[in-house]
Amino acid sequence: MRRIPVIGVPLDHNSSYLRGSARGPFSLVEALHCDSANLWTETGFDLGPVLDHRGALDLSDRDTAFKVIEETAAEIGRSGRPIFLGGDHSVTYPLVRGMKRAVGDFTILHFDAHPDCYHEFEGNPYSHACPFARIMEEGLCTRLVSVGIRTAHGHQREQREKFGIQWLEMKDRAHWPVLSFDTPVYVSVDLDALDPAFAPGISHHEPGGMTTRELLDVLHAVDAPIIGADIVELNPDRDLNGVTAMVGAKILREIAGMMLSD
Ligand code: MN
Ligand code: MN
Repeated sequence: MRRIPVIGVPLDHNSSYLRGSARGPFSLVEALHCDSANLWTETGFDLGPVLDHRGALDLSDRDTAFKVIEETAAEIGRSGRPIFLGGDHSVTYPLVRGMKRAVGDFTILHFDAHPDCYHEFEGNPYSHACPFARIMEEGLCTRLVSVGIRTAHGHQREQREKFGIQWLEMKDRAHWPVLSFDTPVYVSVDLDALDPAFAPGISHHEPGGMTTRELLDVLHAVDAPIIGADIVELNPDRDLNGVTAMVGAKILREIAGMMLSD
């Protein structure tokens, strides 16, 4: 049976507003194994023998953190389909660099309230507001689809046009197309794609977001192999009774189930 490596990426120094997401991976793994739930996916897979917990990366040296993340993704992505747990969203840039080296071409299916495609933010080109600008500049994916967007302003709209990014915006929710993919898919889930009613444990509360079920419906409809994923921006300091960690764990389970289904 295929095993799925799960790796913590505890880095939050590229966050623009609050720290705390560096402890996200630990809360998420704890929630995943909480006795209140089980390890079966809705699609019928028992993840008990499948999840391969590799612990968390040592990212204490900021100067080498991105290099460590990229090398880890390049190595693990060659032999398996990893799920990485952030950390803030800045980690997706080195993760995708590593996955590109490991597996070649893929589409990124990105869930987020925010486009995260600023050219730079507050002087930091590696901010958690910028990963998809770096990814698109380097041509690291064949297509980027961002789902749940509801904070876009002028600069990010220009970036969307420049890079040819596809947005499924919340204001258009009633008219979203069914997505179809002609390459493998890497999934990047910023938990703030969800409405704060469902996922309050994140740094940037942005009302008007997706329900947990809407996000799972999009995931379950992916019609191509999912070759890797990250789940980012869980901030335990902001969580309420661990509910956001449980939502993150649920999303992890269903991504893993999709990885097993092809
Ligand atoms: Mn994000
Ligand atoms: Mn976000």
